[in-house]
Amino acid sequence: MSYTIKAPAKINIGLDVIRRRDDGYHDLKMIMQTVNLFDILTFEPSTGDKHILTGAKTTVPLNNDNLILRAANLLTEEFHITDALKISLEKNIPVAAGMAGGSADAAATMIAFNNIFGLNLSAKELMERGVQLGADVPYCIMKGTALSEGIGDILTPLPAFEGITLLIVKPPVNVSTAHVYRSLKLTPDIVHPDIDAIIAAMKDKNLPLMGSLCANILETVTIPEYPVINTIKETMLSCGADVSLMSGSGPTVFGIFKNETLADAAKEKCLNISKDMFAIVTTTYN
Ligand code: ATP
Repeated sequence: MSYTIKAPAKINIGLDVIRRRDDGYHDLKMIMQTVNLFDILTFEPSTGDKHILTGAKTTVPLNNDNLILRAANLLTEEFHITDALKISLEKNIPVAAGMAGGSADAAATMIAFNNIFGLNLSAKELMERGVQLGADVPYCIMKGTALSEGIGDILTPLPAFEGITLLIVKPPVNVSTAHVYRSLKLTPDIVHPDIDAIIAAMKDKNLPLMGSLCANILETVTIPEYPVINTIKETMLSCGADVSLMSGSGPTVFGIFKNETLADAAKEKCLNISKDMFAIVTTTYN
């Protein structure tokens, strides 16, 4: 038996923070979109008594802190699973990038366990368990185009934003999600993105209108701290991107382009901004 599953990364086509809650979390309103950039997880029988995780060429810990083993162990305990699995991770999604790579891996692991061990859990039941591992895990189980509200756990599917050419660029800087949220100042004069208007423009695939509307309120924290994010955005726009925006808490920036030729040319320019830049031309994935 060998079971392989893809775990797609996400971008945020708009991100607003509505308020800081008393429990320290934030109420968010964000547009989520899965992209054609995947980690690949393979599950095989293991002779040991515990699940083990292997993965070449990755900096993420392969111990019990890894969201893959946390997801596997959560379902193993609840459903008294006795068979141990060897899980291999091919990590393609940049780590700590604002692309929910860890949450995508956790979601893929839960889906895999549900199928391999015949747990018969519905998507909703998987999502209820997934949120214990991270606020983005329920969305990563759902995938596609969606509105995410609450702490990320209230999900509404949106019309598929299909066939869109993307350039995804991550500069070689590390951004702590917790630091970004802690530093965000929701002053009365801060400009909140109009998420509903972005959704309407997406339905019409009106890219120029999206260009004037798409915004991520977390850029108010990350761009002053990491000006390279703005350099990437400006480079994409000067190369013909209709939209260029930071994803999540950054530092990844994505651009929406009319075609691959424009995106490829922008990729070359972005790679020249600094060394160790990650850049890929891809598409939305629905
Ligand atoms: P988000 O967009 O949800 O904020 P992110 O893309 O910024 O996520 P991740 O790549 O998910 O960040 O990684 C965040 C942290 O989670 C890293 O410090 C990493 O060590 C830890 N982590 C645990 N398991 C994984 C995994 N399977 N893949 C990536 N990171 C993991």
